[in-house]
Amino acid sequence: MNHFHRKESTLHCEGIALDTLADQHGTPLYVYSRAAIEGAYTGYERALAQHDHLICYAVKANSNLSVLGVLARLGAGFDIVSIGELQRVLAAGGDPAKIVFSGVCKTPDDMLKALRAGIHCFNIESEAELDMLSRVASDNGWVAPISLRVNPDVDAGTHPYIATGLKDNKFGIELDSAFDLYKKAAGLPGVEPIGIDCHIGSQILDIEPFSEAACHLAALVDQLRAAGIELQHIDMGGGLGVQYESEAVPPIADYIEALTRPLGAHNLTLILEPGRSIVANAGVLLTRVEYLKPSAHKNFALVDAAMNDLLRPALYGAWQDIVPVTASGAEVACWDIVGPVCETGDFLGKSRDLPLTAGDILAVKGAGAYGFVMASNYNSRPRPAEILVDGDSAHMARAREPLDRLWLGESPLPGAQL
Ligand SMILES: *Cc1c(COP(=O)(O)O)cnc(C)c1O
Repeated sequence: MNHFHRKESTLHCEGIALDTLADQHGTPLYVYSRAAIEGAYTGYERALAQHDHLICYAVKANSNLSVLGVLARLGAGFDIVSIGELQRVLAAGGDPAKIVFSGVCKTPDDMLKALRAGIHCFNIESEAELDMLSRVASDNGWVAPISLRVNPDVDAGTHPYIATGLKDNKFGIELDSAFDLYKKAAGLPGVEPIGIDCHIGSQILDIEPFSEAACHLAALVDQLRAAGIELQHIDMGGGLGVQYESEAVPPIADYIEALTRPLGAHNLTLILEPGRSIVANAGVLLTRVEYLKPSAHKNFALVDAAMNDLLRPALYGAWQDIVPVTASGAEVACWDIVGPVCETGDFLGKSRDLPLTAGDILAVKGAGAYGFVMASNYNSRPRPAEILVDGDSAHMARAREPLDRLWLGESPLPGAQL
């Protein structure tokens, strides 16, 4: 079900007209649909009903406390990559016992804080990190539950910046070294191997690499069992793609089938870490057309959102649909939708056929994942506000950043003549 739909030609999020939200709260403005987030999450729950499972939402995709709260109330677990994300999950009411901690470079301080919180599992990415965690845990009288993040060397066929499961990537432990490292881990005082983990990339639209990775991991689980190391869970990471344009997205049931078939008779809990597929299409970014700058060569629509608000187009050349919120009556022309930031890479979309007039509100779709979380203050621009719509009500999930917060903590030169 699509929770962004038109009513009398005006785009709505659930029961609320998006032009009204833009008027009330200003632009640029992120708007999320609670029902869309819940729908995506329960889609996973349903597909996994026959398996022992834990869905750990990847917090980095959208870490707003309200978004995390929606998922926490559904009983979700969380995949975190920093202590900041741990604190967010706890602040949103998430259960620490359902948290897995990913990331290639956890510091001893990160480890201690996560141990104190009582997380479910550390996903370990190198021998050096394993040694450090064992030391930190045993020095404090703990035994840390761990899985090793294995790099299965599979090509996920995605953008090179978000492919993570190839030998050339910085992530995980080589498949060939993982067995020996598990044996070492089993003998260390401060860690206990409870699972195995991988994450091969993001925006993956082909099921094959997932099942290939699952086969590699299942074989390793067998090998470990034969050596007396009994694991309880297999964590297949996140990465299922979403439709931004006309991509064919594999049905979730097929994806789950591809992951579970190689596990065969193993009685392992399946952990997944979906991020994008839970929130991407649950959010839009609203922006106002400030000026039109047509020319013989190219037409530019200058809008009030920029790469600092939504980085994906500039960073990955990502395509996100851009639609008018209300019908303007203007002629359709071909426009590059660009922001105010002083970079040629500052665009939200290129060559879009749209009927535009100055003052129109546009919605950039698919903006719920890797949108606000990647926003910065580049060009000293305050980050946008975020609204969570729930039926006919709009919850201010985050207020627009006040301008003077941008230089909070900075000090003017002492004695400077101001
Ligand atoms: C980013 C990330 C995810 C989530 O990926 P999506 O493509 O958003 O589902 C899951 N696990 C790890 C370790 C990640 O780094």
